[in-house]
Amino acid sequence: MTKEDIPFLDLITVHRELQDEFVEVLKTALKSAGFIGGPMVQGFEEDFARFCEAQLCVGVASGTDALRFALIAAGVKSDDIVLTVPNTFIATTEAVSQAGAQPDFVDIDPKTYAMDPGKLSEYLERKCRWNTKTRQVFHNETGRPVTAVVPVHLYGQMADMDPILDVCAHYNIKVIEDACQAQGAEYFSRKDNRWHKAGSMGHAAAFSFYPGKNLGACGEAGAVTTNDGEIAQTCRLLRDHGQSKKYFHDIEGYNGRLDAIQAGFLRAKLHHLPKWNEQRRQAAERYDKFFAGAEGIVTLPYQPSWSRSVYHLYVVQVEDRARLQKQLSDVGIGTGIHYPVALHLAKAYEELGFRLGDFPIAERSAAHILSLPMFPGLTLDQQERVVTEVLKSLSVNSISELK
Ligand SMILES: *Cc1c(COP(=O)(O)O)cnc(C)c1O
Repeated sequence: MTKEDIPFLDLITVHRELQDEFVEVLKTALKSAGFIGGPMVQGFEEDFARFCEAQLCVGVASGTDALRFALIAAGVKSDDIVLTVPNTFIATTEAVSQAGAQPDFVDIDPKTYAMDPGKLSEYLERKCRWNTKTRQVFHNETGRPVTAVVPVHLYGQMADMDPILDVCAHYNIKVIEDACQAQGAEYFSRKDNRWHKAGSMGHAAAFSFYPGKNLGACGEAGAVTTNDGEIAQTCRLLRDHGQSKKYFHDIEGYNGRLDAIQAGFLRAKLHHLPKWNEQRRQAAERYDKFFAGAEGIVTLPYQPSWSRSVYHLYVVQVEDRARLQKQLSDVGIGTGIHYPVALHLAKAYEELGFRLGDFPIAERSAAHILSLPMFPGLTLDQQERVVTEVLKSLSVNSISELK
């Protein structure tokens, strides 16, 4: 890497800046040798619940565990159907399968990249029937009940929760937010006329603290947030081998606990998260401004009036994505693709029998999206250079030509 190179994500600077705080956390942990659970985990859980405006938080070992535990605790059972979107990280659908259920998909809104609530209604109305006795909705073809929906707050922006919650309440379906990319994102509910934080709206929500997320551990970590005491209690059992107290196993669970040291690091970093999210928003605004005028050539992220995104990623669409990515890489600019294969077409899901054309919006976006450098501390100069190189590659001569 040369000095002019611009990484897709800079994780080094922030950890260097906070080194002293992290050393204090380590010293505290070493003093008590309480490496699993204990006051550091509890302290983080309380702080993170407050941050999300949720009543309860259960720290776990990863975002994948958080999703799996939340689904099981919400009552998802073997052979149920759980609906999500095709354009997410595979952990979303892995958690569904690992809970014993079968993932199925609804397509996304082309502008927000999140679940299209209209298509969710359509799925439940056209492909399913309501059983008054069991108060469940059953998929016509397979006879399986649809018991949960997992909207994914992708790239740091929340899905349109009002209509999703409405239709799910109507059909007695649980809503588990995949908030792994959306720590601090907000949604304006037209129904209650106020803003809500990601992780406070569904029956439960899953967060990942994988290092590259907006709030990242120095290793693996995750959390479930919920306002439902029973869901929280079941998640606490599930993360710790089903133990209500040591060696008294109420159910079979998993080893899915949150390390005390990671909880301590996360608690220290959580204080900085509002500032970091604000820096991401400012960086996104600057990109938006620099690209203004290139509409039709570069499709920019769309933020509806009901959304305050935390820009986990800044994702654009261009016609020839492969060429742009190669040219940026040639001049030392890092990019990413989140994600190149819509999950219904992934090899892992071959047996589900989906075909190209089943979810055209997700498929089209998978072919054209490109994530540009985005992290707190990304400078104006770096962004100007990214935009100049993007426009050069797309044969638009300079930023000023567009002004
Ligand atoms: C990161 C991520 C996950 C998984 O989290 P891990 O902590 O890596 O297990 C799940 N869903 C989405 C959308 C993610 O971005």
